[in-house]
Amino acid sequence: MDKNQYKELKERLLSTKKNGYDLLSEADQAAMEAYCTGYKAFLDVGKTERLCAAETLRLAEAAGYRPYVRGMALKSGDKVYVCNRGKAVMLAHIGQKSLDQGVQLAAAHIDSPRLDLKPNPLYEDGELAYFKTHYYGGIRKYQWVTIPLALHGVAVRKDGTKVTVRMGEEEGEPRLVITDLLPHLGAAQNKKPLSEAVPAETLNLLLGSRPIGGEEESGRVKLAVMQLLHEKYGVVEDDLTSAELEAVPAGKACDIGLDRSLIGAYGHDDRVCAYAALKALLDLPETPVKTAVCVLADKEEIGSDGVTGMQSAAFDAFLEDLCTAQGVPLRACFEKSFCLSADVTAAFDPNFADVYEKRNSALLNYGVGLCKYTGARGKSGASDADAETVAYVRRLFDQAGVLWQIAELGKVDAGGGGTVAMYMANRNITTLDAGVPVLSMHAPFETVAKLDCYETYKGMKAVFQAAE
Ligand code: MN
Ligand code: MN
Repeated sequence: MDKNQYKELKERLLSTKKNGYDLLSEADQAAMEAYCTGYKAFLDVGKTERLCAAETLRLAEAAGYRPYVRGMALKSGDKVYVCNRGKAVMLAHIGQKSLDQGVQLAAAHIDSPRLDLKPNPLYEDGELAYFKTHYYGGIRKYQWVTIPLALHGVAVRKDGTKVTVRMGEEEGEPRLVITDLLPHLGAAQNKKPLSEAVPAETLNLLLGSRPIGGEEESGRVKLAVMQLLHEKYGVVEDDLTSAELEAVPAGKACDIGLDRSLIGAYGHDDRVCAYAALKALLDLPETPVKTAVCVLADKEEIGSDGVTGMQSAAFDAFLEDLCTAQGVPLRACFEKSFCLSADVTAAFDPNFADVYEKRNSALLNYGVGLCKYTGARGKSGASDADAETVAYVRRLFDQAGVLWQIAELGKVDAGGGGTVAMYMANRNITTLDAGVPVLSMHAPFETVAKLDCYETYKGMKAVFQAAE
């Protein structure tokens, strides 16, 4: 065999995945930058699921989407949405074909790991005022101390009136913090496993230190803080009981690296896929062949349960309403539908190479990461897409020039994770996981590659535009 024959054989038979920068056109690079600028703006206003939902509605309305009202007549080309309790959004662009041909779905989530306030959050200790927190989602607790935090959410008074709370986000505004032990006194803490070094009940937000009233009084700092909350938001302590207040890292998304090829921010998981799915839907240049549906769900980080999670019947109700408008049974629509479960995956991190299996890890700048299965301990908790489905998505992505890779989330038995994929698949919808590879997933500051963000957007578009 001569050298040329060998080269030809190698190229024909062996996989040749390339770094995306060796494949990206100059036009694509410019489009990628513009896309990522929009994404960073989305992150900056969408620090919580409620804020993401609100921004989604704003963008959707600007793109011609209208609220769906049950019973509304729908025709090909119509663009509608339903917002579920202000925390999850479902959007549909009605396609040319009947819903008995199924829908092309992308499902992402807009909740991210954070620190929620407890129902009785406010207390004073050592003449300092604090909020007690209860962490939401899988956080590494030690990462949340000694960083500036902002507080977002709503407090609902007994009469149902609602006040929006937002503090610590704007430049010059005071922020909150959780303190940590100084190294001088950290000897005992240093010996604890990382998971125990910062107990959950020490994740208390420092609120203030300045007392009011006479020195004979007690609880003066707590009262002073409550007075400030009352002045700003018109709430009393009992209103904090019917509130949803979320402490999240303060600050904005930014470029990372001297070459600006990466984005650092809070909440990439999973707003990076949520934005890709939403933007792809809003950018569709014409009526899709099949109906395109984008779901931005809440509660994924705690198991997709609850009325705003992907397991909620709210999704079935929305699709059933669309189906009813065309006289199609929901089950007939589901069994012909395809869903890209759009969620992040772990990017290979050379600093922690031993938890990854190099041949099956997602690499930064290699494009959107497909995951045939997620789960843990022998694929438990995975929907495990079939070979036909993986082939379908390969074909779609290759036809559309989408850079993609296929990966597992770390070494077998090193851990694992789940997505909404299984809840879509359980509905009899053919489903595959796909999303952006992330470094430091679930940390207060996560990192992704711009190229992968953009390719994920292109991938979502390919799914929405698919004719088969
Ligand atoms: Mn996720
Ligand atoms: Mn997650």
